[in-house]
Amino acid sequence: MRLILLGPPGAGKGTQAQRIVETHGIPQLSTGDMLRAAVAAQTEVGKRAKAVMDAGKLVSDEIVIAIVSERIDQPDCANGFILDGFPRTLVQADATEQMLAAKGLDLPTVIELKVDDEVLTERIAGRYTCANCGTGYHDDNLKPKVEGVCDKCGSTHFKRRPDDNRDTVVARLQTYYKETSPLIGYYYAKGKLQSVDGMADIDTVTADIEKILAKL
Ligand code: ADP
Ligand code: ADP
Ligand code: ZN
Repeated sequence: MRLILLGPPGAGKGTQAQRIVETHGIPQLSTGDMLRAAVAAQTEVGKRAKAVMDAGKLVSDEIVIAIVSERIDQPDCANGFILDGFPRTLVQADATEQMLAAKGLDLPTVIELKVDDEVLTERIAGRYTCANCGTGYHDDNLKPKVEGVCDKCGSTHFKRRPDDNRDTVVARLQTYYKETSPLIGYYYAKGKLQSVDGMADIDTVTADIEKILAKL
């Protein structure tokens, strides 16, 4: 099963991807996570990406395409994968198609999460993750069962992203509408688009996605 999760920052792509990983056993390929790892490791890519990410702009197509193309060659992607936050431009979308065609693979199913801007700002402002295992939480919408303790790994250390502040969110939303939202029409025209109401609560969104996956 190959999937693309498409939607603005804070739409719930990462949250739903983590659930699909657990239910379907395919890996989540988040370009945001991969780039943050490169920034933390201070690699050449990380050094180039950091300022761009902090400004809410997009890292170059060339860099992210190279990262993804290397990643999908790994053995754990043989039975499928979830692309979370990639492709984000039409150039990346064309590259994805070519990358998969070279492996004899069809285009993935694209699941679009639709969420209003006002809600996105609240979601991003309240977002944090476990510093140890990366499980995502929210100050109001998704708290750990025991306060201050990660449900999944028991860690008591959490982190917030430097770009999850109200100023950068505006820039990221602008970037989304300009560069990424054209992909909705692109995949619709290819008969690959499935849209889900991302305003619903987390479990309802998961159930709606599962209904789509059941038909694949
Ligand atoms: P994205 O990966 O699309 O940027 P996330 O999955 O990180 O978004 O979600 C952003 C924040 O909103 C997280 O803190 C998450 O817990 C919360 N969240 C995700 N989906 C929902 C939802 N359907 N309803 C309420 N809060 C949600
Ligand atoms: P979001 O919560 O906004 O969906 P991500 O974790 O997917 O955040 O991405 C964080 C940042 O990493 C983006 O604002 C952008 O700078 C960079 N990034 C992630 N994926 C891509 C991509 N496919 N192309 C270009 N830049 C990307
Ligand atoms: Zn954890």
